[in-house]
Amino acid sequence: MSFRATILTLYPEMFPGALGVSLAGRALETGTWSLETVQIRDFATDRHRTVDDTPAGGGAGMVMRADVLARAIDSASPLGDPRPRLLMSPRGKPLTQARVRELAAGPGAVILCGRFEGVDQRVIDARQLEEVSIGDFILSGGEPAALVLLDAVVRLLPGVMGNEASGTEESFENGLLEHPHYTRPQVFEDRPIPEVLISGNHGKIAGWRREEAERLTQERRPDLFATYEKPANGKKSLPKA
Ligand code: SAH
Repeated sequence: MSFRATILTLYPEMFPGALGVSLAGRALETGTWSLETVQIRDFATDRHRTVDDTPAGGGAGMVMRADVLARAIDSASPLGDPRPRLLMSPRGKPLTQARVRELAAGPGAVILCGRFEGVDQRVIDARQLEEVSIGDFILSGGEPAALVLLDAVVRLLPGVMGNEASGTEESFENGLLEHPHYTRPQVFEDRPIPEVLISGNHGKIAGWRREEAERLTQERRPDLFATYEKPANGKKSLPKA
């Protein structure tokens, strides 16, 4: 069974966008996942195909209408659809690698992309939309956020990544940021590759990588480091060479 993504948007032409090339694009072609877009405007009922209106209570901008969105959602994801219904939103729970893994293990996702000031709260409540944020900043619309979420999910689908191992040895997978990487040439502008990495001693290399990962995490992400449990025997969690 392949992962089915349905995107509700005012800009279907933004998809598959970046997901049409490279690993995700190939997986799309071979049917590892599928992508369907739904034009929200098709569910407007007036002559001008209006999807938004002024905010109740006044203020700047426009709000996407609950009735139009509900019709679009009900058409794209009828009762009994097992897929989670997500709303891209800066107010949502920040997306994590753990949530990405859960989504990748499931049947797919129905993703609503907001525009303007956002969407009428009543459709969020009535259709039980899960609000998901990709970070503490404001985009002009949910479409780039949906592309980000899907990119993270699709690379985890079985067979998408060439080297399966790299999927479990990344930043966040073990509660740490990843160690630094090096490759040829041996010396670049007077900077050699750290000696331990060319020692051939796999135990030492694993130890160095874990220390570097811990150091970087402590420096850059004290929030992550606070919840990281240092492996007791000094051997757990970090990538083998
Ligand atoms: N007025 C809103 C921002 C609206 S931005 C507020 O202050 O919270 C318009 C749309 O872009 C949103 O409805 C959402 O779908 C999308 N969007 C903006 N920033 C986002 C983020 N960080 N993560 C996910 N979606 C985002």
